[in-house]
Formats: sequence, structure tokens, C-alpha cells
Amino acid sequence: MNIKRILLLGVELAGLNSLSRFWTRRRLLGLCYHSVVSDNSPENDARTRIAVTVSQFDEQLRELRKNWNPVSLTQIRNAVENNILLPDRAVHVSFDDGYRNNLIYATPALVRYKIPATIFVTTNLISTQSRMIWALELHERLSELTDSEIEIGGQTYQLPPPESPSRTALALDLLNCVKRLSASERDLLLQKLRTRAELDLTPSWKKELYEFLNWDEIRLLRGQGIEIGAHTLSHPVLSSLDLAELNRELVESKKCIERELGEECNVLAYPFGSVYDFSDEVIETAKRAGFKLAFTLQEQRNKVELDPMKIHRICINREHSIDSFRVLISGLRNNG
Ligand SMILES: [Zn+2]
Repeated sequence: MNIKRILLLGVELAGLNSLSRFWTRRRLLGLCYHSVVSDNSPENDARTRIAVTVSQFDEQLRELRKNWNPVSLTQIRNAVENNILLPDRAVHVSFDDGYRNNLIYATPALVRYKIPATIFVTTNLISTQSRMIWALELHERLSELTDSEIEIGGQTYQLPPPESPSRTALALDLLNCVKRLSASERDLLLQKLRTRAELDLTPSWKKELYEFLNWDEIRLLRGQGIEIGAHTLSHPVLSSLDLAELNRELVESKKCIERELGEECNVLAYPFGSVYDFSDEVIETAKRAGFKLAFTLQEQRNKVELDPMKIHRICINREHSIDSFRVLISGLRNNG
């Protein structure tokens, strides 16, 4: 057992997680997942970092069922609109992007533990095959590129061998540089990479990781009580768009969900979700488009009185052992 594990276990055994849960009990805990993948999906690959395995997910849901009170989107809406208090230690589980693995692996576990959840879908990618969110496509192609260096934003980066763990890790870092480029610079880079690096999506673990749901499957999920929210049309950095494009991404994704599901959709998750990825203008445009609730990925706990257009969520990924998950969600490290 390593030192970190011993320390994290010590925190749990000393009752510090439980104390912190009590201390922060009135603040909603938002959790964001992306993919849930099978246990044999490669572990040391940065591309699977955004996923948790089936076993991890099961263990985490058991913890939520035992020490927390999972709440639905409807309960959050009631808290915001009608001042109906959420239970103490309320937690809301959500998924971003709209992957098929949410249906195959996550939903059976959610049903088993009776935990409500929301899936935020990137509507242009729903019902498509072999299409990816641009940021993940970039990560894939940067991982496969056979060149020894690449220039991004005027800086040159040396590339470790293709497909090596250090390459996929660097590709993930480079993604943050690309996010800071203008949309046209980013598209240019993507076009260049499309001619230079193959997109190999044949391994089954990649299919499992990247395949999107289709609308029939989303209607099936809806029938099982999963709530569906918008995650824009194409997963842009909303704060970098001009007003017309920003409005289109918000209004059209909302309309698309409403058309396909035959019910109102007024909840949004900002793509990427950090403080740099949305702005006051984004919030105002989203409100004008008819969104009543919006979720971030700012790693902090919500205030007792929720800000409906900035409901914070902690992103859960493969790095979190059950011990670090307990510490992370208890609020010991994230009191905001
Ligand atoms: Zn996303």
C-alpha cells in the first residue's frame, strides 16, 4: 500500500470525510462524468483519462447511495424556482457529451442504485458514426502523428514516439494550447492534421470510448428516467464565439432536443466548462435562448443558495481511486 493510499484511508478512518460532509451538507455537490468504459480499457493512456471503469463507477455509486442523497434535475429546478429545499448532502450525477457507453455501462448501475442522472448531449454528433468532438479528434490525431515536432500558436513542440504514453499525455497538454487559438487557426491545424495523421478508431476500446448515442437510444434513456440537457451543437469554446454563432449553438441545440424528445429542454452544460470557457455574455445569451439552469466544470462546491446559471460540478475521471473520490467529494479539498 503506498503512502498516498495510507493517508487517504487515514482521512476516512479519522472521520474527516464524514465531518466535512456534515460541514458542507447544505451545499449541492455536482458530479460530472463523460464515459464509463469496461475494466480492461487501457489504463496508462491519456485518452481514457476522461472515463471511469465499470468497477470504479459501481464503487462510486455505492458510496453516493450510502453517504449522500442523490437528487434529480427536477429537484434542483424546484430548489431554484420554488425554494423547495434540497435534502442535506445532496448530490447530482451528470454526464457530458452523449456517449453510447452511458446507456450500455452507466445506466444499468444507476438503475441498480436508484440514482437519478442527467446527460448533456452535443446534438450535431448524436446519431453520427466515426465523428468526434473536435478536441478529442485533435487528441487522437496528435497521438498518431509521425512527425517529430509540431508548431502550435507560434511555438514548436518536440513529439515523443507516436502512440507512446508520453505522446498521448503531451497531446492532452497541447489541447489546452489549441483551445486558446481562434476558431479559424484551430480549424487550419485540424485540417493539416487530417492530411498528416490517420484516425484509427478500430480498436474496440476506442469505439467504446467515443461512440455517440443515437436519438432512439436517447428516447430509451429518457423512458428510464434519465434527464436530457443541451451541450451545444458542436462543443465550441462558447466564450470565443461571436454573438450570432453563440446564439446559433445555444438555440439550435435546444430546439433539436425539443424536436426529438417532444418536451421542453431548458438546461445546459457549458462545453469544457471552466471559468475561461463561458462569460457573462454567454450566460445572458443562454438565458435569452430560454435556458433556466446551466452547469459548469468549475471544481468547487456550490453555495447554499444556488446560482442557476453557474451550477458547479466536479469532473470525475479514472485517476480517482475510491479513497481519493471520498476525499474529493466530501469537500475537504473543494470548499469553494
Ligand atoms: Zn463536453
